[in-house]
Amino acid sequence: MPRTDTMLYLDGVSVAFDGFRAINNLSLVLDKGEMRAIIGPNGAGKTTMMDIITGKTRPDTGEVFFDGTIDLTRHDEADIAMLGIGRKFQKPTVFESHTVEDNLLLALKGKRSIFPTLFHRRSTLEEDRIGEILAVIRLEERRHDLAENLSHGQKQWLEIGMLLAQDPKLLLVDEPVAGMTDAETAETARLLRDIAKTHSVIVVEHDMHFVRELDVKVTCLHEGSVLSEGSLDFVSADERVVEVYLGR
Ligand code: ADP
Repeated sequence: MPRTDTMLYLDGVSVAFDGFRAINNLSLVLDKGEMRAIIGPNGAGKTTMMDIITGKTRPDTGEVFFDGTIDLTRHDEADIAMLGIGRKFQKPTVFESHTVEDNLLLALKGKRSIFPTLFHRRSTLEEDRIGEILAVIRLEERRHDLAENLSHGQKQWLEIGMLLAQDPKLLLVDEPVAGMTDAETAETARLLRDIAKTHSVIVVEHDMHFVRELDVKVTCLHEGSVLSEGSLDFVSADERVVEVYLGR
């Protein structure tokens, strides 16, 4: 059973697709307030693990607890989002033809339909929250610009801001720096480290320079289980990791 100070607790989780075990007896514990980097070669099970946490895929066996004692296997995907797990996929999906602040407003209101939302007046509370998020993602000066005019990196940060607007306890972030410049990558590490001061975060990432900048505990998955776990130096010196991943 998980402890109350655990944000995420996976124990003995397995899931098979047509007899193939994509996740195989996986166990992972994320403390409240912790940021963790998940690495592993293609096919290691990283996406499937995220799908299990968000309720997109139901495990065949094993326990998945969130925020202490909430049993995620008893909830569906929509419920789990409401419980406070936000997921960002690799490609940015912002509303291109709307301004930066309207994107944040839409996320704050949690609406899928754009137009009725934007015609409503925003409250002072919403204004304040938009201002706070813009400061965190450092896009204050782009507030009134259309999202389509942002750089790739800025769109990723805006989408991270949209996740924050939904006030999650746990953020799942999938390869945020793919396609970014070195400067954008460094800024993304800064942003996620800031966010991790007040949230739990799981980052799936291939870019080891970025993982080093995050400066967090690393879990390397392979064939659906944890192969190695510890500091990046520890994991990257692990011969099994070198063999399956870093040495390829
Ligand atoms: P990663 O994200 O680490 O690249 P995935 O979680 O996407 O790995 O995939 C793990 C394994 O499970 C892969 O071998 C993949 O082909 C398989 N897999 C994932 N989803 C499905 C599915 N819906 N049906 C069949 N096989 C799947």
